[in-house]
Amino acid sequence: MKEFDYIIIGGGCAGLSLAYELEIHKKLENKTLAIIEPRTEYKRDKTWSFWKVFEHNFDDCIKKNWKNFSINLPSETKHLECNNFPYQTIDSGLFYKKIINKLKKNKNISFFKDIKDINQNNSFIFNSVPSLKTNDNSLWQHFCGVEIKTKENIFDDGIINLMDFNCEQKGSVHFFYTLPFEKNKALVETTWLSKMSDNSLKDYDIQIKNYIEQNLKIKNYEIIYKEEGAIPLFYPPNVNEKNKMNIGTAGGMTRLSTGYTFLNIQEHSKYIRINIENIQSAKKFDIGKKYQFLDKVFLRVLETHPEKMPNIFSNMFSTSSDTVIKFLSNRSNFLEDISIILKMPKFTFIKALFK
Ligand SMILES: Cc1cc2nc3c(=O)[nH]c(=O)nc-3n(C[C@H](O)[C@H](O)[C@H](O)COP(=O)(O)OP(=O)(O)OC[C@H]3O[C@@H](n4cnc5c(N)ncnc54)[C@H](O)[C@@H]3O)c2cc1C
Repeated sequence: MKEFDYIIIGGGCAGLSLAYELEIHKKLENKTLAIIEPRTEYKRDKTWSFWKVFEHNFDDCIKKNWKNFSINLPSETKHLECNNFPYQTIDSGLFYKKIINKLKKNKNISFFKDIKDINQNNSFIFNSVPSLKTNDNSLWQHFCGVEIKTKENIFDDGIINLMDFNCEQKGSVHFFYTLPFEKNKALVETTWLSKMSDNSLKDYDIQIKNYIEQNLKIKNYEIIYKEEGAIPLFYPPNVNEKNKMNIGTAGGMTRLSTGYTFLNIQEHSKYIRINIENIQSAKKFDIGKKYQFLDKVFLRVLETHPEKMPNIFSNMFSTSSDTVIKFLSNRSNFLEDISIILKMPKFTFIKALFK
């Protein structure tokens, strides 16, 4: 059986981002890599969005950039700017194509469908397949989105709607998210922060249809793409093996308060590339203890007071949008953290802190 210096389990966002980072920095000229990925074809399956707080390798896979966003509550709409950190959407189809084309040119890189096809004993393994032993009490961000094409030009494609809370909450946290790619094309997503056991929240198609027809007042449209997913709002168990490291969602790269993961994956890939020669002794990378702690408190509030969350999210954005974006993208300094914390309902958060 074949042996490799490195093995990446899972050729999704984290696995391919890491392989690409190693490849373009010439770390695979004298080393071999096996990528284990069961899928039979790569096609667009996710729409990755984030505020661009640092340079990454995938500007050429961007579907669109925006410099304005809004948040809707039943009582008010906030319009915010993000000139310094544009909101970007990556088309996963373009991302997969770009990376696979590049990797296929290096004969040191091989693709396999099953880990059993290779010998793992003498390799360093990067694993992106989480072992999610969950129970009914685990919180998830679960969602479904459709890209629609309308007959008329009805969208303002200069502004995204990050969160629209004008919808049924059913004792959880629920909002719609709209990304207008063109004046007649937009991704409309229904998003829940809740326990997965509640099946009554999962009639996504009906929720989206009602929102498009009743809230957005669109009657003539066709669905041209659909995606569905669930992001764990808890950290999957970490590995403690000498020759193995978790990456991606499995590696704790998700911000639990928001579900944002893509840019953290890019940062982790860079960290691994810099330390690849001594990867066995490299310190474990994390998104920052401060954010892990604050997100934990935030989620406790969310669990006990879901009804307060629309106002909490909205209040957060009453500080400068640059500050909030930096906070949500793990880039804030102490003073910026304080200015966010001061916007939170103090008694509720203090109670959650000591829970
Ligand atoms: C629909 C969707 C939309 C998202 N949108 C955003 C967003 O807008 N912004 C953001 O920051 N984050 C977003 N996320 C969260 C996160 O960025 C993505 O989940 C991202 O794909 C995580 O990368 P990953 O490599 O950890 O997992 P994946 O990309 O899911 O990769 C895991 C890979 O492992 C493969 N695999 C599964 N089982 C095995 C096995 N037994 N052996 C080998 N391989 C296996 C899978 O086929 C897959 O290719 C989204 C998530 C989803 C699901």
